[in-house]
Amino acid sequence: MIDSNANVLLIYTGGTIGMVENVVTGALEPFKFSHLRSNMPEIQRLKFNVDSYLFDPPIDSSDMSVAIWQQMVKVIEEQYDTYDGFVILHGTDTMAYTASALGLMMENLTKPVIFTGSQLPIGKLRTDGKENLITALEIAADKDALGRPAVPELTVYMQNLLMRGNRTTKVNADNFSAFTSPNYPNLAEAGLNIRYNDKFILSPDYDRPVRFHYEMDSHVAVLKLFPGISEKVVSAHLDIPGLRGLVLETYGSGNSPITPWFTERLKNAIDRGLVVVNVTQCLYGRVEMHRYKNGQQLQKLGVISGYDITTEAALAKLMILLGSGKSSQEVCRLMETSLRGEITVSEPS
Ligand code: ASP
Repeated sequence: MIDSNANVLLIYTGGTIGMVENVVTGALEPFKFSHLRSNMPEIQRLKFNVDSYLFDPPIDSSDMSVAIWQQMVKVIEEQYDTYDGFVILHGTDTMAYTASALGLMMENLTKPVIFTGSQLPIGKLRTDGKENLITALEIAADKDALGRPAVPELTVYMQNLLMRGNRTTKVNADNFSAFTSPNYPNLAEAGLNIRYNDKFILSPDYDRPVRFHYEMDSHVAVLKLFPGISEKVVSAHLDIPGLRGLVLETYGSGNSPITPWFTERLKNAIDRGLVVVNVTQCLYGRVEMHRYKNGQQLQKLGVISGYDITTEAALAKLMILLGSGKSSQEVCRLMETSLRGEITVSEPS
């Protein structure tokens, strides 16, 4: 039920939702929040209070950085006790990365933090931004029978679906349904009513405080395999000075070539302390390295299983764990553990 006493903080970081067309170049450019407000008189009709916080200048999310993630977490930390929920307007291009990172930077969240944006600017007649924003605000103000938030976790709301943030990926550059949560059920669906999928929503410990983690190590990279990949390309990645974590995007259930030069290069890097996480290139399904000889080879070398994690979440998790000062061994153990529901770990059968 929507709490009419709720206070929600709307954080505007930028993105298409608030952009306008440059009359000279025709390109979409970030615009002021006042433009968004004046195009959204509906916000005044909500039965609860909405305050706003602006990132000035607004950011095209292709310019997203660790420093801006830290800034967003800081805003939430400073305002955490004042508000019942937070809605963050963010460009869709890197929303899955930001949602994955922030979902991991905040531990034991007891309030909703909902990311949304749009594919068409709010000033366009056919905009998807209005529905996305109004529903996200309503979910942020929604409480259960005990007066607790309906969804006390970090989520992405786009085109009728509420998804766990660290499970999302952007799959469409044109459609309004731009995001999917391939390996975890949607947390809610908005139709005539908002139907929550309660058993899949995280239950925080309300007796414990929320914790905010800021340290991140950007010495990470992604290496996507492809047939014909050369030794030079692989070495150029593995030998990056200072590299501490690598997301290895493999085939199918976690397979890679077993050419001697490939395994040798990888072994040397892992022996040097590089944490290598195996994430499948497939959108759906999971890494199960025991299935094929080629996967078993990676397991033997000490490659960590990413199970069904997305590349976005694997990268963010590596950055956070490596930034926390933990040993490589502990980072490896935690990479194979679910911290905020970002991964489904299961034993090989
Ligand atoms: N380039 C925009 C951004 O990510 C696209 C969008 O908002 O959908 O900021």
